[in-house]
Amino acid sequence: MVIIGGGYIGAELGYFYATMGTKITVLQRNELLIPNTDQEIATTFTKLWKQKYNVITNAAVNNIGKKGKNITVNISVSGKKKIIEAEKLLLATGRKPNTDLLQVEKTGVRVSKAGFIEVNRFMETNVSGIYALGDIAGVYQFKHSANLEAEYVTNAVLGKKKAVDYYPMPYAIFTSPQIAGVGITEQEAIEQKKKYVVGRYEYQNTGMGAAMEEKQGFVKFIVDTKTQEILGCHILGPHASILLHEVVVAMKAHRTKALEILRTTVHVHPALSEVVQRAAWNVSL
Ligand SMILES: Cc1cc2nc3c(=O)[nH]c(=O)nc-3n(C[C@H](O)[C@H](O)[C@H](O)COP(=O)(O)OP(=O)(O)OC[C@H]3O[C@@H](n4cnc5c(N)ncnc54)[C@H](O)[C@@H]3O)c2cc1C
Repeated sequence: MVIIGGGYIGAELGYFYATMGTKITVLQRNELLIPNTDQEIATTFTKLWKQKYNVITNAAVNNIGKKGKNITVNISVSGKKKIIEAEKLLLATGRKPNTDLLQVEKTGVRVSKAGFIEVNRFMETNVSGIYALGDIAGVYQFKHSANLEAEYVTNAVLGKKKAVDYYPMPYAIFTSPQIAGVGITEQEAIEQKKKYVVGRYEYQNTGMGAAMEEKQGFVKFIVDTKTQEILGCHILGPHASILLHEVVVAMKAHRTKALEILRTTVHVHPALSEVVQRAAWNVSL
């Protein structure tokens, strides 16, 4: 199977098919897979995937054709042309709203140029009594953010109207290795000119990480130097999506004391979560 697109959807579906025994080739336009995650995470992930699968980065797709029963994808990589042949093609180059097909304009509901339904902080559209939530509202595009919005809309309809509180919004990518994160990436911290410090810890330097012989996994914190607020936390490795949750809960509990909470909470030894606590201690403020 040839997969065009190395974002999280291409990676998750690619991982699924590869685990089922399909030989996959991933064509990615960017130099890294999952480029929107923290660059350090994306770099390690890309390196590991290049060892396991046929991953071609910096690949521009010129055209797609057919050869007998197979599909051919003509690509350019650093000016050199190549043809990739496969039985199946998976296009994972992005998603777009279907408001045009739904003819939403007939309801009077305002739609943005990108096709998302415009909502306020209460998920209300400009038409009284019509709400929008989930992907079509275009705030976040996660199942858990859609669930959160659904809860607020249900409460609003029942008379308990409140602005949606998204903070802090986590994400996870269910691949091998697994990835999870919350808040901003280091490249975003630089773009936003934040004064920050990084704290990092490797799984292999904890008891459980060593027992698991986990050589690549790590936890990385990005913390505001002045306020001590956790700006971001990014994890690559086994159970990343579960490990992230104590960080999310601490952030929700107290915006500027979350790091202190993580540091001073006793963690079971040798639970894998020691890697989170030690990364928190490695933030030099
Ligand atoms: C491959 C892939 C992997 C993903 N992995 C994750 C993940 O790990 N975690 C995560 O949080 N998110 C993940 N997402 C994103 C997640 O699926 C979406 O954010 C979430 O489903 C949004 O929920 P929703 O209800 O807004 O939209 P949807 O789940 O898309 O539901 C919309 C429904 O409306 C129906 N519909 C559309 N048009 C019409 C019509 N005209 N008439 C009637 N029905 C219609 C659709 O058929 C669909 O059932 C993934 C997405 C993809 C594509």
